[in-house]
Amino acid sequence: MAQKPHVAIFPSPGMGHLIPLAELAKKLALRYDLSSTFIVPSIGPPPEAQTKVLGSLPAGINYISLPPVSFDDLPGIRAETQISLTITRSLSSIRDVLKSLVASTRLVALVLDLFGTDVIDIAMEFSVPSYIASLSTGCATPVHGRDLPDPIQDRKDDAYKWFLHHSSRHGLAEGILLNSFVDLEPETIKALQDQELGNLPPIYPVGPIINSGSSIGVSGHECLQWMDDQPHGSVLYISFGSGGTLSFEQLNELAMGLEISEQKFLWVVRSPDKSASASYFSAKSNTDPFSFLPEGFLDRTEGQGLVVPSWAPQIQVLSHGSTGGFLTHCGWNSILESIVHGVPLIAWPLYAEQKTNAVLLSAGLKVALRPEVDGNGLVGREEIAKVVKGLMQGGEGVAIRNRMKGLKEAAAKAVSEEGSSTKSLHELVSRWKN
Ligand code: UDP
Repeated sequence: MAQKPHVAIFPSPGMGHLIPLAELAKKLALRYDLSSTFIVPSIGPPPEAQTKVLGSLPAGINYISLPPVSFDDLPGIRAETQISLTITRSLSSIRDVLKSLVASTRLVALVLDLFGTDVIDIAMEFSVPSYIASLSTGCATPVHGRDLPDPIQDRKDDAYKWFLHHSSRHGLAEGILLNSFVDLEPETIKALQDQELGNLPPIYPVGPIINSGSSIGVSGHECLQWMDDQPHGSVLYISFGSGGTLSFEQLNELAMGLEISEQKFLWVVRSPDKSASASYFSAKSNTDPFSFLPEGFLDRTEGQGLVVPSWAPQIQVLSHGSTGGFLTHCGWNSILESIVHGVPLIAWPLYAEQKTNAVLLSAGLKVALRPEVDGNGLVGREEIAKVVKGLMQGGEGVAIRNRMKGLKEAAAKAVSEEGSSTKSLHELVSRWKN
């Protein structure tokens, strides 16, 4: 009997890359009977959240952890640079794994993300076609320079060179998967598919592909019991993704803003740090985050809110009836998860391409309020209380909620049997199988 087609999947470091690719692999296995192997690079010991996701993959999806690389020689480099270098420093072990997969499986494709383009060369050595999974927006809404992705803000920084490097290599891929759908970004997708505009590989909008809650078992589940006791649609969920951290001053303003808003909240708190991406590779705090909250805050807000350290079961929270809004750092996965569950947003971007995503949400799709940053680079407590009340109680909040409902329906349609994303994935898999 002919061997099943097999797909190699190479996520660059970070939960925001691993989670949607894990969900893609599950879809390929369940719907198309395609098996796959994750090739997982790492910097130090794997974060708990990563181990949980990989450990809960169903039969037919394997993973191989690459030997960790060290950055002792390059202290203080930016996260984006570190991600790219993790991959270049892992190339020889990636080659070994691909070689053994080619020998032992019917390997039909290698799927990698934006930061993994150096692996395309190795796949070519083995004549395996590469596909880039684009896990964020192409934002067609006009964007101010300051809201463009972080790595392109400073041309002297290595992160900028890496961004150009990876962007220039997209043409080497056999195809590009978008974790998006036609009704969410019609202009962008139309432009990318317009063959007259350039030599881009075929584009496959296959989203939204979102977290199905495989992080069950990771800390933070006690909060769901608290949510069960709250009134319908009353709670604002606050999370800055797997890696986002606030400064000490900003953490305090947020705490005070929530308190004076008098709205219910569930807040995933991390210890403060000067770098907004301080927890990116660990997805948790190494110190007790609660010790940085304003004095008496936990007592004063008892009953009004709940704080959980480092990690919450986000999908279970977003799909919970008590959730009425989400203050998000605008990571693309968090955005898609909110759309699928119809949760209106407050856009509070921190790093990477999050500010661009925030523009799409607030100015483009108009499904988010975006608080203003003051002259000191902080969002003040009064501003926070204003947007929180605006979203949870104000007329603007109602309009945003209704628009989000529309997007929720469009997302469900895209992944339905006859939906645009289902058709697109079907086309891609047919190409792989033949
Ligand atoms: N996530 C979670 N609990 C948390 C923080 C994050 O389950 O406390 C999940 C979230 O559901 C999403 C992913 O981690 O699937 C974060 O991806 P996103 O693109 O939103 O942000 P990133 O972490 O890449 O900045």
